[in-house]
Amino acid sequence: MSFSRRNFLATAGALGAGVVSRAHAGNLVLPSLGAELLPPPKGKRVVVCGGGWGGLTVARYLRKLDPSVEVVLIERNPVFWSCPMSNKWLVDIVGTDLLVHDYLTVAKKFGYQFLQSEIVGIERDRKKVITGQGAIGYDYLVLAPGIRYQYEAWFGDDRKTINYTKANYPAAYIPSAEHITLKKKLHSFKGGDFVTVLPPPPHRCPPSPYERVCMMAWHLKQHKIPGRIVLLDPKPAPTPIGIGFKQAFDELYKDQVLYVPNATVKEVDPYNKQVKTAAGDFKFEDAILMAPHRAGDLVWMADLIGQDDKGQATGWADQHNVGLHSQKDPNVWIIGDAVGKASELFGWYPKSGHVANRLGRIAARQIVNRMQGKDFDKLLPDNLCYMFVNGNPIEAILVDFQYKFNAEGKIVQTVKEYHEHDVNLAKEDFVWFEGMAEDFLDRG
Ligand SMILES: Cc1cc2nc3c(=O)[nH]c(=O)nc-3n(C[C@H](O)[C@H](O)[C@H](O)COP(=O)(O)OP(=O)(O)OC[C@H]3O[C@@H](n4cnc5c(N)ncnc54)[C@H](O)[C@@H]3O)c2cc1C
Repeated sequence: MSFSRRNFLATAGALGAGVVSRAHAGNLVLPSLGAELLPPPKGKRVVVCGGGWGGLTVARYLRKLDPSVEVVLIERNPVFWSCPMSNKWLVDIVGTDLLVHDYLTVAKKFGYQFLQSEIVGIERDRKKVITGQGAIGYDYLVLAPGIRYQYEAWFGDDRKTINYTKANYPAAYIPSAEHITLKKKLHSFKGGDFVTVLPPPPHRCPPSPYERVCMMAWHLKQHKIPGRIVLLDPKPAPTPIGIGFKQAFDELYKDQVLYVPNATVKEVDPYNKQVKTAAGDFKFEDAILMAPHRAGDLVWMADLIGQDDKGQATGWADQHNVGLHSQKDPNVWIIGDAVGKASELFGWYPKSGHVANRLGRIAARQIVNRMQGKDFDKLLPDNLCYMFVNGNPIEAILVDFQYKFNAEGKIVQTVKEYHEHDVNLAKEDFVWFEGMAEDFLDRG
């Protein structure tokens, strides 16, 4: 049996499907990408693209709300890797076992099918998702691809420099290889300036870059490494929980953190280790070069990115702000960080795991409603972000977002910030994470 055929059969086996078709290329036996991987479902089939915080939640809740629906989750990675808690993992406050989870056990526990494969095409006209193993037809589709980095904003079409930057100064905002690279870099850092470039809003998890800076600074302080984290922020002040983060920078890390506001990037030169910004030019020993964030590739592939008044791509999905289905295609739902504006009153929901989990639950409800011929429910998410500022003693700060409809039916946001470093908030962070892990992973 050839290696490629063995892989293909393993995948088909994991799906509980027989091998349906293969194309031959010389001596290699390869699956045809257009060939159907699964027999037609007995009832309705929902295909979920992306097995992160949003995708895992919607898959679990679809099966919970309607056990007759067939759910197929497609994800490129063999294991789930959590970005939440990864800043603590970077400095060994938590271990890898907290972040990493096995997809097959989760799929079995919640009764959906898992396919590990790269999604290479979405054919909405034929209702098919094309993967590296073959095609899967759907009745309803959920896109939960997270984000992509828009390096083109810095380097245009210069792929060589984009690849060089990704490889040498990864942002570590997409799981998981980049996190491992960053950890190795931090733990072998001998001193000098470690520059962190923040992207302009909206970006993934607004407070987490500041938490990461605190954790990295704590590491330098603990190990007496003669270095600084230079934080280049395009905003005039840290936000959210800005007072709490500033207190941490000033009181705990005055020798380890240089916070630079209004530092909009003008030019990045990874070869000569230099970033030019509106607040000055900075040379670096090492760096996290984080380009602007946009919706993950799958939303672009499906041609479901929104447009602004001038017909320009917004960079984010064009979903209905309550129903979560695409404005362009009612059979496709978009959840998680990829979603576009929720309200003209505040813009975007924070692009967080907590919100992705809540949108996953809501989308499951809306899809089941659709299958039952009902209208969508008026459900809204909430968001909690606990952010560590100290490693010993462990201390965190917190931001709490709540949403409701106002009298005109618009979504309103209320934000509460807890700026005082508190050991109890750090403990609550672990409880929060365990609760999430119980909700959509194999824990609990
Ligand atoms: C350092 C850091 C700290 C954070 N801390 C917190 C926190 O404390 N609390 C919090 O709530 N949030 C936090 N977040 C944010 C949180 O990680 C994201 O908001 C959340 O992961 C978004 O979920 P998602 O499902 O939209 O995307 P993701 O979780 O990124 O999942 C997307 C999935 O889609 C897959 N995918 C994409 N394209 C393809 C393709 N073509 N084929 C196959 N698979 C594909 C990806 O591999 C990925 O697994 C943090 C993020 C970072 C980076």
